[in-house]
Amino acid sequence: PIRARGIRKSYGSLEVLKGVDLDLAKGEVLCILGPSGSGKSTLLRCLNHLERPDGGMVEFEGCPVGYRLKGDRFHELPEREIQKQRKSMGMVFQRFNLFPHLTARENIMEAPRRVLKVSQAEASARAERLMAQVGLADKLDVYPGALSGGQQQRVAIARALAMDPSVMLFDEPTSALDPELVGEVLDVMRMLADSHAMSMIVVTHEIGFARSVADRVIFMDGGVIVEEGPPDEILVHPQHERTQAFLRRIL
Ligand code: ATP
Ligand code: MG
Repeated sequence: PIRARGIRKSYGSLEVLKGVDLDLAKGEVLCILGPSGSGKSTLLRCLNHLERPDGGMVEFEGCPVGYRLKGDRFHELPEREIQKQRKSMGMVFQRFNLFPHLTARENIMEAPRRVLKVSQAEASARAERLMAQVGLADKLDVYPGALSGGQQQRVAIARALAMDPSVMLFDEPTSALDPELVGEVLDVMRMLADSHAMSMIVVTHEIGFARSVADRVIFMDGGVIVEEGPPDEILVHPQHERTQAFLRRIL
């Protein structure tokens, strides 16, 4: 569902993405690895137009992201329209970004209510179903502050799923968690990949997860894709010195 070509992004004189091409097929799980500062988060944010790329284009299910073609020119969509597009790409960040003053149920209901105008009853039923799916049926009416980091992250996943996205984007969803909480979040992601055949892009340093769940792995460095391929190729027999050095450091 995603096709990106020649994505460029600079912050001032710092060129963070130097022309990145990326495809995600339906049902595919793509893991992105790379050192800090290599542009992984920026790339994810360009895919759903949280950042406006300086160059290149992103297509989501055949439509340009963030733009509309009028005549022979692209016009940037109003923020409201971009927000709608963005909701079909669920995003989960490193730091739990739940609303602290809303319960888990209310967090999950918020976007379907506001954006999709789903009824109160339907949104609430959806929240119950999703909380059960992420193994938190008993925490529906609890505030984020009373949940562990792993539980908060599972609510964040449920909240993204409430919009019925066709793609999920994960930006290091477990890297802020205590080690003993990482597994429960990865298990939910694995369940999404396996039983729901969700299309996913996962920026992660969890090599075990990448090996067992990814269909394809990308290694990024310095704003470019250095190498990509099946997990065993990239993670076990990388061709490039930069990939080898990175893996030596994190394993
Ligand atoms: P990490 O593994 O640490 O999350 P990353 O690969 O996700 O790194 P990015 O967050 O994409 O890297 O950042 C790439 C570079 O762009 C970094 O040097 C960062 O400091 C810079 N950068 C990112 N966002 C901004 C911004 N809004 N303004 C200025 N510089 C930025
Ligand atoms: Mg990042």
